[in-house]
Amino acid sequence: MKNISVIISFKPILKHLLEVVVKSLEAGNYKKWGLNPILPPRLSDNEDYGVAAERFWNESGWSDRVQPLVPKINDWWNKFGAKFTESLSADLKVIEPEKYYIILTPFGPGGSYNTSQSAIYVRITDPNDNLWWQRVIVHEIAHLVSVKQENKDHARNEDRINKIVREKLEAMGMTELL
Ligand SMILES: [Zn+2]
Repeated sequence: MKNISVIISFKPILKHLLEVVVKSLEAGNYKKWGLNPILPPRLSDNEDYGVAAERFWNESGWSDRVQPLVPKINDWWNKFGAKFTESLSADLKVIEPEKYYIILTPFGPGGSYNTSQSAIYVRITDPNDNLWWQRVIVHEIAHLVSVKQENKDHARNEDRINKIVREKLEAMGMTELL
């Protein structure tokens, strides 16, 4: 069974995520993929997103509101999440990282992943919606472990991920996450 580390931290992790999101936004990727990333509210169109993000981080109380999720996510992982990724990885014949870094964020798309860092990003807007983060975690980890099998076409790759996640959730009786 693999471990997780749930992280809530602005610097340097979310600063880096924000740079990736802004770059992707400017490249028109989200429009192409039909995704609506959340960006920190800016005081003007000229304000740097990093500055806006830091203000949001310091003033919104978001990090305090999501803090109770850390033990919840760890608990869920120990009961269900780890078994899911272990079984899925065995089916896909891929090796899991020793540890997954689960980074909670107020910004970006609903979820994203970084294979080289064994990290997934989970956007939290409603800390009381427990099904949301469970769904995002299983989806993004499926991306992360199967990156070598990915289809270069974004929509087809999402179909592939949704299919393997759905089949595994059904097989494990975790259908509330469908
Ligand atoms: Zn996806």
